[in-house]
Amino acid sequence: MNIILLGPPGAGKGTQARTMCDSHGYIQLSTGDMLREAKEANSEIGKRAASIMAKGELVTDEVVIALIRDKITEKAGAVGFIFDGFPRTLAQADALEDLLLSIGQSLSHVVELFVDDEKLISRITGRFTCGSCGELYHKLTKPPKKPDVCDVCGSVNKFVFRPDDNEDSFKTRLLAYYRDTSPLIGFYHAKKILRKIDGLGSIDKIQAGINNLIKPVN
Ligand code: ADP
Ligand code: ZN
Repeated sequence: MNIILLGPPGAGKGTQARTMCDSHGYIQLSTGDMLREAKEANSEIGKRAASIMAKGELVTDEVVIALIRDKITEKAGAVGFIFDGFPRTLAQADALEDLLLSIGQSLSHVVELFVDDEKLISRITGRFTCGSCGELYHKLTKPPKKPDVCDVCGSVNKFVFRPDDNEDSFKTRLLAYYRDTSPLIGFYHAKKILRKIDGLGSIDKIQAGINNLIKPVN
């Protein structure tokens, strides 16, 4: 089963993707995470992407498609993939279809997480990640039990804020979403694989809703 989580920045795609991977053994493919790793590793791609990402603009289709192609080929035997933050343009959507076809697979569902624009900004500006294990937190809605200590891996003082989680970059990211990515909603609707879910509510409730949407009907 291959699933795309679609939605604006801050809709909760990463949080839901991580939970689905823990519970179902899917492999999460997040181009945002891959680009941040490339930046950490100081690779050519990472260096070039860093300034584009900080502004909130989209990295070129060519670069992200190559990243996804490598991962899909490497993990071709997986139970399924959860795509989070990819595809973001129609060209990326076309490429994904071809890539899946090349390993004899196809998309099962596209889940659109919708959240009001006003809610998104407060989610974005309060969030941080454990630099060791990648667990996601939020100052107000999901603080760690002990300040500065990761609930999951116990790392101390390893929390990191993303440089693009500020108001200016957020505006650009939201615009990029409506301009370049939201046309995918119509595209997948026409293919009859689009499912919609309200992205407001508890993490568990949304997870249950997603599981319900992607349940095989027999
Ligand atoms: P969010 O969805 O919260 O905005 P991501 O981690 O998915 O965050 O992406 C962060 C940034 O990485 C984007 O603003 C963009 O610059 C770049 N990026 C990630 N995925 C893609 C993609 N599929 N195509 C182009 N750029 C991407
Ligand atoms: Zn951790």
